[in-house]
Amino acid sequence: MERQQIYDIIVDNLPVGFSIVDKDGIIVDFNSTAERVTGYSKKEIFGKSHLEILHGTNDKEACPLFKHALERREQSVATETIIRRKSGEIIVLSVTTSPLFDNDGNLIGGIELFRDITELKRLERERKNILSMFAHDMKNPVITAEGFISRLLSGKAGLLSETQKNYLDLVKEELDGLQGLITDFLEFSRFEATECKPVLGPFNIEASMRKHIEIAKVEAEKKNIKIFFEGYEGIPVANADAMLIGRVITNLLDNAIKYTNPGGAVTISLIDGDGDVIVRLKDTGIGISEDHLPYIFDAFYRGKRDLKGSGLGLSIAKTIVEAHGGRIWVESIPGKGSTFSFTLPKNR
Ligand code: ADP
Repeated sequence: MERQQIYDIIVDNLPVGFSIVDKDGIIVDFNSTAERVTGYSKKEIFGKSHLEILHGTNDKEACPLFKHALERREQSVATETIIRRKSGEIIVLSVTTSPLFDNDGNLIGGIELFRDITELKRLERERKNILSMFAHDMKNPVITAEGFISRLLSGKAGLLSETQKNYLDLVKEELDGLQGLITDFLEFSRFEATECKPVLGPFNIEASMRKHIEIAKVEAEKKNIKIFFEGYEGIPVANADAMLIGRVITNLLDNAIKYTNPGGAVTISLIDGDGDVIVRLKDTGIGISEDHLPYIFDAFYRGKRDLKGSGLGLSIAKTIVEAHGGRIWVESIPGKGSTFSFTLPKNR
């Protein structure tokens, strides 16, 4: 088989659309997948402007192939863009582009590989809508129900028998769990919609940690779990959003207690790193098996379904820490315990 024939077969069978333009952005090659995605046949699109025909504009910023490959002479990977199909339908593409140079280094054109992700984006929108609708609409009824149950339990609506009290205590406990889920869902959907934007300032991690440990002790004592704090006065002040980092500490502390058997221990240390402060929580808990380990920071991923939770705590923690320019990671030995660490930049 001729080299050209092999090339044509490969190009036409690629599972991605493919458009090659000259340095003026005129289409000189187009494969079968590109025909299917755009609705244009090769014949009718050859010789036309990629920008005008697919983006319906002369604005080079609208097209990654023009903006990155032809104008800036750089590659771009998995950029999202919108085009208009021949039928007029608007679709979303994930696009990878590269400039093309001849042997002397002169720009001769550019190449764009694209994939139709319209359906994927629709599903993503649908998921976000369901999540925020669920969280918003559930919040008020749960708060109202909890309020009335608390009133009943306080005896304000008449005396209750022991059995009635016990039943209401159980209902209240379940509602508390549901409220925790809703709070996680709301927080997660808020971060998805607006991106997490920390309001940075000098943050005394030592004091904050002591406060959160006092709160966590209530649950820890119920399970006879000891909390040790190896912090020390004088740990550098971090540059962080106190409220958001408080959420990270709470999530990690709550998990350490939740996933540690009665009689265990949680040890927290603060380490003065090179450019950052390292916060470390080590527990003597159940640990995390290797098949769960790569996924525990994913939203909705839950290793243990028999304990209450949303599967969002670690995902929220990761979003917050990374929005501060920090890192979060875990080391774990199943049956022995887990160590979660995260870094925060120092305040300079
Ligand atoms: P969840 O609501 O399920 O606790 P998270 O996002 O906080 O959700 O954690 C995800 C999963 O990671 C948990 O379901 C659990 O399997 C695992 N995990 C988190 N923290 C610990 C820990 N300290 N020890 C053991 N497993 C943990």
